[in-house]
Amino acid sequence: MRYVIVGNGVAGTKAAESLRRRDRGGEIMVLSRETVPFYRRPSLVEHLVGRVSQEELLGRPESFYREKDIELRLGTEVVGIDAQAHQVTLADGETLDYDRLLLAVGLSRPSQGRPGSELKGVLSLLTLRDVAALQSAARNVRQALVLGEGVLGLAMAQAFRLLGLEVTYPFSGSRFWPQVLNPEAAFLVEQRLRSEGVKLRPEMQVVEFLGQGGRLRAVRTASGDEIPCQVAGVADGLRPPIEWAREAGLAAEQQVWVDDRLGTSLPDVYAAGDAVRLSDEPLAFGWLRAWHQGVTAAVNMSGGNAPYRRRTASLSTRAFGLPILVMGHPHPQGKVRREHGDYPSNGVYKELLIDSLDRVVGATMVGEVSEASHVEPLVRQQTPFKEVPAEILRRLFDQRYWAAAGAEVLCPVCKFLMHISEEDLQQGRLTCPICGVEFNLRATGDRFQIIMEE
Ligand SMILES: Cc1cc2nc3c(=O)[nH]c(=O)nc-3n(C[C@H](O)[C@H](O)[C@H](O)COP(=O)(O)OP(=O)(O)OC[C@H]3O[C@@H](n4cnc5c(N)ncnc54)[C@H](O)[C@@H]3O)c2cc1C
Repeated sequence: MRYVIVGNGVAGTKAAESLRRRDRGGEIMVLSRETVPFYRRPSLVEHLVGRVSQEELLGRPESFYREKDIELRLGTEVVGIDAQAHQVTLADGETLDYDRLLLAVGLSRPSQGRPGSELKGVLSLLTLRDVAALQSAARNVRQALVLGEGVLGLAMAQAFRLLGLEVTYPFSGSRFWPQVLNPEAAFLVEQRLRSEGVKLRPEMQVVEFLGQGGRLRAVRTASGDEIPCQVAGVADGLRPPIEWAREAGLAAEQQVWVDDRLGTSLPDVYAAGDAVRLSDEPLAFGWLRAWHQGVTAAVNMSGGNAPYRRRTASLSTRAFGLPILVMGHPHPQGKVRREHGDYPSNGVYKELLIDSLDRVVGATMVGEVSEASHVEPLVRQQTPFKEVPAEILRRLFDQRYWAAAGAEVLCPVCKFLMHISEEDLQQGRLTCPICGVEFNLRATGDRFQIIMEE
């Protein structure tokens, strides 16, 4: 069996690893148009400001692929597919045969964006190359602007502030990121952004980039105002780079449509990660989701039958250090009740969403998320609220509980702040309760270092 995986991000890498585990004799080839092997994109901002080295950013060294007998071809772009012949074409004209193909191509900034998108200074932060571009664009300029509410917009706002720029962040609604955040959570995020010097501009839509001599000088809003900026971070309108597959008949709108086994409309072609959307899926984005989908796709590609059990849909990130965790559907249909104890309080908000059948169907935590691992099964199993153990409710809503300090370390994958117990220390190992990734734990003086397992 010959497996070809387009994409060496988290979905593609997990798929390759899982395929090797399931099919010891199969040929596995991973293609990436980037020139560095798999790295942790969520740490790009820390890398940009020198807090995380390139070595620390890498998820797997190139030697890993050799050891697992996985052929990794970097700097290799796929530009065409013949689904009937089971063949992909590379940018240099070479063709590769496959028995099963996985599209794990993530998201990119399309070439056709708002007018003026081609100007120097208009950029995104998606890859290691973008880091260098952003650093150079930020040199000798003063004003930056961010477009797009969400994880990537927040990352760019932070990057620009860390580089010392003034940051304007317009968004079209009256509050920030309403698709995901409820009003209380949005308020806390807005508060954090403002306290970090970000100028929020609600109810403002940017329609055009304006340039001078090929360089960005301002943006124009829908109401005709101009906001001066010399660099703009674009985090909206991102799409999977799959024009070449669309031309061959791949069914896709903004993302690739897949069935519950992550199969696409083309025979023997699967898709996983940010490029993909399942019907009715809330929160169709994120590292952990891509991770799980890579594994699911591999099972199905190698002859298994694993429906993508929609584990609790969840999104975990940080806005200037403020942890944000949303689980389940942020806005479930029908009548819902919100249990939030005395929150919001002291920069923290926590709530459980209870549906009309009295079941826990969602949760939001901002500012403090240490009970996430206890809440996740409640949401996944849609536990009746009256059956939620009193101890969990106390942990969730008793404000004194979480204030107890302890040793902590940040999960580099999902950015959850993990508490280190005495037992973890003795075992030298730690499992992130949110994303399940296992780490080796090393204590250096009064600090802890975590090293990702291979
Ligand atoms: C700055 C930043 C911060 C983030 N923070 C968070 C966070 O806090 N929490 C969170 O959950 N998520 C976060 N994310 C998102 C997370 O990184 C993504 O959800 C995840 O990387 C998606 O994985 P993927 O495998 O689907 O795609 P990607 O990681 O984007 O990988 C796509 C791969 O496809 C390859 N490719 C594309 N087209 C082709 C082609 N034609 N030929 C060959 N190769 C191709 C690329 O080279 C790349 O290897 C962040 C992302 C960024 C950039």
